[in-house]
This record gives sequence, structure tokens and C-alpha cells, in this order.
Amino acid sequence: MLRVLLLATTTGYQTRSFGEAAERVGIKLVFATDRCHVLDDPWQDQAIPIHFHDELASVAAVLDVARNQPIDGVLAVGDRPTVIAARVAEALGLPGHPPDAAAIARNKELMRDCLRAAGLPAPAFIRTPITANPAWLLSQVSFPCVVKPVALSGSRGVMRADNPRELAAAFDRLRALLESPDIRAERSDAHQTALVERFIPGREYAVEALLHHGALHVLAIFDKPDPLDGPFFEETIYVTPSSSPPGVQDAIVQTVTDAVRAIGLRHGPIHAECRVNDEGVFVLEIAARPIGGLCARALRFDADPARQASGPARLPPPESPITLEELLLRHAVGDAPARYARESSASGVMMIPIPRRGVLRRVDGIDAARRVTHTVDVRVTAKPDQMLVPLPEGSSYLGFIFARASTPQTVERSLRNAHARLTFAIDAEFPVLRATQSRYNQGHG
Ligand code: ADP
Ligand code: CA
Repeated sequence: MLRVLLLATTTGYQTRSFGEAAERVGIKLVFATDRCHVLDDPWQDQAIPIHFHDELASVAAVLDVARNQPIDGVLAVGDRPTVIAARVAEALGLPGHPPDAAAIARNKELMRDCLRAAGLPAPAFIRTPITANPAWLLSQVSFPCVVKPVALSGSRGVMRADNPRELAAAFDRLRALLESPDIRAERSDAHQTALVERFIPGREYAVEALLHHGALHVLAIFDKPDPLDGPFFEETIYVTPSSSPPGVQDAIVQTVTDAVRAIGLRHGPIHAECRVNDEGVFVLEIAARPIGGLCARALRFDADPARQASGPARLPPPESPITLEELLLRHAVGDAPARYARESSASGVMMIPIPRRGVLRRVDGIDAARRVTHTVDVRVTAKPDQMLVPLPEGSSYLGFIFARASTPQTVERSLRNAHARLTFAIDAEFPVLRATQSRYNQGHG
């Protein structure tokens, strides 16, 4: 049986989706996850315990296991383990992203330098220690600008400022976030630095793609129909196929291709985000990993029956449609992405926004939301009594709504209609709960 190494932050939804996909394909997953190795297999998944912040030791631990348990492919889920994945693939002689390229993709400062050096459209930016004096910053920037951390994701810590007062407030807020216990626990030097960039107006798109020995195979271009103008940048709706003119889509693919080449990414999944306006396509970032959370469920792929014969002989042929996770696993063991195309229907996901800070008591209307025409599923992932923290500090969603229909417009309407059926009972947090919460976070850091 072929074995794929999966590096993941926790045993979350995405890891479970990979588990299900692996069973369908007939691949054995070998997990490596970030955890404390004094606990003896606490998750009962025989995962290799590693520490993402200690990359060399993590690579060594994985290679040690790989000596007795040969590995045929490597995948990373989430931003943090992408460099370890690249190093492991390189050491095992498997195709993957070069470690240097993965390191650039994980760090917004390195990425900005790289894209600028390649002559690609990029916002003017400055880097600054998070301990800098905001008065100094003021002399360096123009407005509107965006303050952001170098190595977080999901728009965490990203804030727009339109004037000096907002810039000072945003900078203080980012410093407090980067100095919080759960972020300190990542032990990344990147969290000592912030970027302040020119705000790029325009429409935003996400590109999900697979690189195959250097060739870019686009899996989907997502429209983000809600304006993302700040002050915070909460993701909501993703819909594919894009309704933008073919010329815009071609320009997006061309610029992402150029950016991928500049960064040096070569083989494996990528997730890119772009802003488009009259000046061109601005690549905001390219991550060396697939789309996160449950969002992947908005994607399904059909295999082209005429091209079945070209795949790895050891795998059974796919039963269409297949999930993104199944496609990624097949690719990780050598299958060519050109055999697959996104299914023909339009599809979308809404990351359910957190309406306000507080303790989630109840979500009502889930069944009514599920009955909205073209709604495929409504998944509330926040747990009752969970503390909900909105952006810019928060790092989780309330849940996800999925819809599928013949046109992207219908998908978008269904997502909004389903969301309108939901009501959220959220209690103001009590000081005592806040204390418990922060202790909890420290204990798990
Ligand atoms: P993350 O990795 O946390 O997603 P990003 O750099 O992608 O961080 O920023 C998150 C969001 O913030 C983007 O999707 C975009 O909507 C907004 N944003 C970030 N930088 C800029 C910018 N320079 N101009 C306009 N919007 C921006
Ligand atoms: Ca992003």
C-alpha cells in the first residue's frame, strides 16, 4: 500500500477529510503533528510527534520513521509545517516544493521582497519591529495603509488604517496580539516584525492550484463577492467559477504563474490571493498548501475517462466526483492533475462570520438554512459555550455553509439566504470566563 506523510497542526476537520479520502483511494496516511512528545500517542492516531518550531529536529524525527515505513508522498496542511514538508520531501528524493521557496511563501516579508524583485505589481511596504515607536512609523507611510503580521493566516492581525490615529491604534493592537501567549508559543522570530503596506483597492480572488513538476494546473478561481475594504478583513463568501471577464481570469492565472516562478514553488498544492484593479493584478500572497478548514468541500472534481490509463498503476481508478483531498493524495503519489477538472456546476462556501465577541450559547435555524434551495450543507463548527473572538484577534469561524447550483449567482444568493435563516445566541463574556479562557490557551500553548 502506498503511504503519504501528512503534516498537520492538529487532528482537525481537514485531517479527517484526508483520512476519509485515503480510505477511498487505498492509501495509508502517516501523520506528523505538532504536539508534546511526553504524552504517549494522546490522539491514538500513531502520529509522529514533532514541534513545528524546531524544523531540523522535526525533519529528523520524520526521516527516522520513514526508514522503516517507506513514504511515497508528502503533504502539508496549514502554513506552519510547509517548510518541514519540503525538507522531508527533498531528503527522501520525492517531488515537492524546494524548502527555500516554501520558506518564502510562509513569510509575507520575504514574499514581498521576492515579488518586488521579480517586477510583479506589489504594494509599497515597510517592515518594522513590533516594538517600534508609532511616531517613527508615521513618517514612513501614506494612507490608507494596511498593518499586518508577517506569519499569521486567516487575516489574523490584518488591519486597515486611514489616518495616523488609526495607524497607532492598529499597531498597538497588533503588538498585543503578537505578544499574546498562544502566538508566543509558536516561538517564531517572524512574530517580532510587522509590515505596513499601501492599501490596494479592488476586487479580490482566490486561486486554488496544483503545481506539477513546475507546471501550474489551476483547480479553481474563486470570486470573493463581499467587498474587503477593512478595517478588518473577515473572509465570507467564496464562489467558483469566477464571474469576472475571461481577460481578467487569464491575467490572474498569468500573474500567479509569474509569482510562483519568482518564489520558486514547483510541486504540490498552492493557495493564492489576488487583488485586481485598473493597475493590474496584485498577488497578496501565495501559500504552499491547499485551501484551509472545511472550505475544500466546495470543490469536487471529475476524472477525464479518456486519460485514466496515465495514472499510477497501483491505485484504483477514481469514482467521480472526487474531493480535493482525494485529488491531492493521488497527486502526492504521482497522479497528473491534468486528468481532473472541477465539476461543471457552480459551487460556493460561506465562512460564517462571528457577529460579535462573546460566549456562543446556541445557533438556531440550522434546519431551515439547510432547506434553502441549492444549499448543500450547513456546518456549525463552534461549540456551545465556546468563546467567540472576532477578527483581528480571532482565529476560527462559527461554521460553514455550502451551496451548489448551475450559476455562481444562484450559489451566492443561496448562501446569503441560508445565512439569513441562522440566529446566534451569544452572551457577553464574564470576567471570570475570560480568565479561564486565557489559562486554557496557555495550558495548550
Ligand atoms: P492572511 O495570510 O492572514 O490571510 P493577507 O496578507 O492575505 O493575510 O491579508 C488578509 C486580507 O487582508 C486579504 O485577503 C485582503 O482582503 C486584505 N489585505 C491584505 N493586504 C492588503 C493590501 N495591501 N491592500 C488591501 N487589502 C489587503
Ligand atoms: Ca490571505
